[in-house]
Amino acid sequence: MEKKEYDAVILGGGLAGLMAANIVAAAGFSVAVVSKVFPTRSHSAAAEGGIAAYMMGNSDPNDDPDFMSYDEVKGGDYLVDQDAAELLSKKSGEIVSLLDAWGAPFNRQPDGRIALRYFGGQTYPRTRFIADKTGMALLHTLFEHSTGFKNIEYYNEYYVLDIVKEGNNVNGLVAMEMKTLNPIYLKSRALLIASGGIGMMYKHTTNSYINTGDGQGIALRSGVALKDPEFVQFHPTGLYPSDILISEAARAEGAILKNNKGERFMAKYAPHKFDLAPRDIVSRSMTIEIREGRGFEGGYLGLDLRHLGKKYIMERLALAYDAAKNFSGVDASEEMIPVRPAQHYFMGGIDVDTTGTNHDLNGIFSAGESACVSVHGANRLGSNSLLETVVYGRETGNTMVEFLKTHKNVETNSNVEPIIDAAYAYIKRETGEHFGVLTEELRDIMWDNVGIFRDNDKLAEAVSKIKDLRVRAKSMYVTDKTSNYNTELFNALETRNMLDVAYTMATAALNRKETRGAHFRDDFPERDDKNWMKHTITYLAGDEVKISYKPVTYTRWKPEVRVY
Ligand SMILES: Cc1cc2nc3c(=O)[nH]c(=O)nc-3n(C[C@H](O)[C@H](O)[C@H](O)COP(=O)(O)OP(=O)(O)OC[C@H]3O[C@@H](n4cnc5c(N)ncnc54)[C@H](O)[C@@H]3O)c2cc1C
Repeated sequence: MEKKEYDAVILGGGLAGLMAANIVAAAGFSVAVVSKVFPTRSHSAAAEGGIAAYMMGNSDPNDDPDFMSYDEVKGGDYLVDQDAAELLSKKSGEIVSLLDAWGAPFNRQPDGRIALRYFGGQTYPRTRFIADKTGMALLHTLFEHSTGFKNIEYYNEYYVLDIVKEGNNVNGLVAMEMKTLNPIYLKSRALLIASGGIGMMYKHTTNSYINTGDGQGIALRSGVALKDPEFVQFHPTGLYPSDILISEAARAEGAILKNNKGERFMAKYAPHKFDLAPRDIVSRSMTIEIREGRGFEGGYLGLDLRHLGKKYIMERLALAYDAAKNFSGVDASEEMIPVRPAQHYFMGGIDVDTTGTNHDLNGIFSAGESACVSVHGANRLGSNSLLETVVYGRETGNTMVEFLKTHKNVETNSNVEPIIDAAYAYIKRETGEHFGVLTEELRDIMWDNVGIFRDNDKLAEAVSKIKDLRVRAKSMYVTDKTSNYNTELFNALETRNMLDVAYTMATAALNRKETRGAHFRDDFPERDDKNWMKHTITYLAGDEVKISYKPVTYTRWKPEVRVY
């Protein structure tokens, strides 16, 4: 098997991975970036609405980084580690200026300063944007910057199978070239997992096909913990029926949610913030409206942009207009856009501290959506994820540089063959379970039982059903036996990861007997600070999920009732 050696290997070519790659390479260390798609096709490219930042001299005069942190802490229903939120806010303006200097074409105000708008849960407007293509533009900016480093090598369209360990030390990873199925061992002292989200395990999601929780699954299999995996965000405005995202930018620009009576129903649920309340609150309110018969036939509500006028819509929300036109046949300047909530973001993730370090293995780091720092707590505010990818991508890159300065190579004869054999077994097996059947069942279970409204019976059923799916997955096989772009094989490998991650998510959700942020329990509808103001830490050991807890870090904000 081919073997290459680098100082650092980065799993993921999205915003978090590329930011860290730029930092580690700038310090002179060799870096391999591995991605199952070409880096600029990473899911960060789908981010539309913007990136939050307090910028001195270019924010509301009453705003400051403390207000920003407070909004994050309250938005996350007090499960946020407050030191992490403070770091995020403090560095937000400076990192947006850096991206601006690196060539990101931010929208401007008439006087030339970077433009800003409100997003959900913000006391003052802070979201900076590049039309409604912010993620795409930032990803190209970081990728272009990285091409200036000769010490970064890209492994594009390589699928990472598993981590290589030597005792308690990370020793790189094994990947497979997707075009040929040839395996490669990329040995390294430091490994960053920046593999993005998990959306494909839900029947309704705004995420693309590549978001299958691979990094989280790989981490769990290596004995690394996931923190707070019960917290999943459902975005209020997935386009009906495709679930393509209609960005929060639409409501930020003045679009209004309406029921079948033409009522602005959010006035009832969030009398101060209306449609721009945090996403957990809006998604729940929409689900109640639909359940109580005030939705439209098929199960959706209306997003009304008509009063904005076609010219303004095309200037500010062209992507939303095009999506509605092309995928629902609706002209948003004349009709309401049909929308319903859909899975959008994973607040849980690989357990790391504010330096991006995980403490289960030496040399393992995580950043971006695959990580849980935790800056989002029980509910993420819109436009804070892009910010997290670049702020914590950079923090983690700096941590890796310090780690590499002091940690020598682990001498090893690591046996990587079992990792390859486990993947090839799907091809060798002639009959068994097909990934398509298992994935469809999983997506139904997660949507129906681990969704917006949860309770003991639904969650216990989910745990038991996923446990059964994991047993059936042991006999997974693929019908395609060729080695030329065998996508069926990669789908099977993704299913393995989704099942492992979903199992910890459902178990942690069953375990948390309270309502907090996006985790709403019909049977425990109140937040319970006395018993549950703590992070869930989950390890996967065979068919058991081991749960322990970590305290939430407080700096200054005491929990209060969360009203908007
Ligand atoms: C439609 C949509 C719109 C959004 N809009 C916004 C917004 O406006 N503002 C905001 O703040 N947030 C937004 N978000 C959230 C935000 O875009 C993401 O959380 C963030 O971009 C994730 O970046 P990342 O670098 O962590 O991961 P990603 O950009 O998802 O990158 C993951 C990388 O990992 C690689 N990878 C994964 N598994 C493997 C494997 N097994 N082998 C090899 N490579 C692998 C992928 O190829 C990819 O390169 C949006 C999300 C969605 C779905």
